[in-house]
Amino acid sequence: NTPIYYRPTKAVIDLQAITHNISSLQNYIGPKIQIIAVVKANAYGHGDVEVAKTAIEAGATMLAVATPDEAVHIRENFKDIDILVLGASPHTFIPFASAENIILTVFSTEWLQLAQQYTPLLNQLRLHIKVDSGMGRIGVSTKEELMELYTMINSSDDFLVDGIFTHFATADEEDSMYFDNQATLFKDFLGALPQKPRLVHVANTATALVKDPSLHYDAVRFGISMYGLLPSSYVGTKLPFPIKPAFSLQTELVHIKKMQAGQSVGYGATYTAEEDCYIGTIPIGYADGMIRKLSGQEVLVGGKRAKIVGRICMDQSMILLPEAYNVGEEVVLIGCQQQEEITIDDWAHKLQTINYEVPCVITARVPRVYK
Ligand code: PLP
Repeated sequence: NTPIYYRPTKAVIDLQAITHNISSLQNYIGPKIQIIAVVKANAYGHGDVEVAKTAIEAGATMLAVATPDEAVHIRENFKDIDILVLGASPHTFIPFASAENIILTVFSTEWLQLAQQYTPLLNQLRLHIKVDSGMGRIGVSTKEELMELYTMINSSDDFLVDGIFTHFATADEEDSMYFDNQATLFKDFLGALPQKPRLVHVANTATALVKDPSLHYDAVRFGISMYGLLPSSYVGTKLPFPIKPAFSLQTELVHIKKMQAGQSVGYGATYTAEEDCYIGTIPIGYADGMIRKLSGQEVLVGGKRAKIVGRICMDQSMILLPEAYNVGEEVVLIGCQQQEEITIDDWAHKLQTINYEVPCVITARVPRVYK
């Protein structure tokens, strides 16, 4: 029962690309290191359930999400896979997490003290200790707090230290000084524990791909390059294997009109034709996440580049066509058409942001379809 979508605007997700990216990583890190597929934020806007299914089939042994609600959605669809909530979970989630075998992040003694109010739990709750080695977000930042937390967890039958992890702030940058300090601090903290937890993990994509393999520890958290995107251009110069982008965005021309020189387009009449031309209308706008700052961005039609002209509307936009086309002609906003390609990085550049943000902000109104 595939849903029917009437509007031609859709994000097409290439699951084979995701399989390729995961298999290539596994090949690179070796069979002993586990892959945690980071599927938070609806799998970076690619669709959490389909991406999770593909990731598990390709060998990922755990899924990481950011919020309890994301974990619930994954658990509804996958009964057995290990799920880790990376962010701070409200304590009210603890009974559910225990019942559904969802792993939570513990990041302070204060959080654990409050968690104890929910005991006894149905099942022992597995916890991963977050160390703040320099990200300044969540996590224990002194060895004393780490040891206190570790002892507190171990003194209760309701909780188990299943893992320990940290997150790097500058793994994608060439200058490795800040990164090295974080790695050293974490190693020092880890060494202070009387026993190594089951799963030690520090590597995000950039760390997994370009840093010392000793930092792969037991598992790597594979996010951005699972989707075929680079964490930074620097990482791109060091990639150990090619990655394939999974996300494309397409629509169709719904109206074409011949405009005379001097006629204008869109709200504010900000674009005026310099010469006679063809203007096409496409059914995608800022309510789909194609925000107004993308005016001027190129799209692909008939294998050629065409510019978005005038202001982007809530649901529609206009493009300056290189020639007359028929209604129904495919328009690619992100992806390949014939010999041409427009990438998520092109959008990120135009928007002065990072590629991570682009698929995340394509709204739920745009159906994700899979190939
Ligand atoms: N681990 C944590 C804690 C994260 O917050 C993220 C993403 O922001 C990741 C791993 C994945 O990072 P990347 O997408 O760069 O691989």
